[in-house]
Amino acid sequence: MLPLLLDTHCHFDPEDNARELLEEAAAQRVGVLAVGGNAVNNQTALDSGAPCACGYDWSCTGVEPTLTRHERMVAVGELGFDFHRGYSPEIEADQRERFAVQAEFARREGLPVIIHTREADAVTESALREADLPKTGVIHSFTGDRHVARTLLDLGYFISFSGIVTFRNADILRDTAKYVPLDRLLVETDSPYLAPVPLRGRRNRPAYVRETAQFLAALRGMTTEDFAALTVANAKRCFGSHPLWEILA
Ligand SMILES: [Zn+2]
Repeated sequence: MLPLLLDTHCHFDPEDNARELLEEAAAQRVGVLAVGGNAVNNQTALDSGAPCACGYDWSCTGVEPTLTRHERMVAVGELGFDFHRGYSPEIEADQRERFAVQAEFARREGLPVIIHTREADAVTESALREADLPKTGVIHSFTGDRHVARTLLDLGYFISFSGIVTFRNADILRDTAKYVPLDRLLVETDSPYLAPVPLRGRRNRPAYVRETAQFLAALRGMTTEDFAALTVANAKRCFGSHPLWEILA
């Protein structure tokens, strides 16, 4: 039997058949955390029936986050910082404001956060330090080097790797993936984006998390079974367990 895996970060577009994707994943013993990040994806995450996260990401410029607790909500997110499309003090201030409101919600509800960061290392670090959340969370689809990872690990965060770690030009990220302590490591698809090698170019789906897990297991010199058990345990420490994951166990 395939070892249970958890895809700790996937998105469903409105045109996706989430039920079908979840059934396919479950048939391959993959549990899912469906993640929002804007009003549309928050709704698809909630509607999917999977354990989910809702939040307002960097792209929701000027949006006042409105979050309510749902019984299937296991985290807040994704939220965070992204200056890939440009930086200005105004853009930073807008992202910081939205971050702060959601961090406060996470604190009040005792939920972990799912953090997106791109070309924003220093701001992400300072915002997380300032928020000083008692329950931390995960830096998702991590792409930084080991020094950036060290800082975020020291703040108490888990580090999650997506299919990017399998890409040919990702040597620095593979170095990071070897460096992150085994008890702080998670795996995800970030589907429908970033399908791992050898499926790169296809529309990604939760079941494909096994490719990335196998790749990371080999990189760490572990069996896929051991790696799967370890990352599932980590995910449960980060997000708490959920009956819908336990069914698959
Ligand atoms: Zn995402």
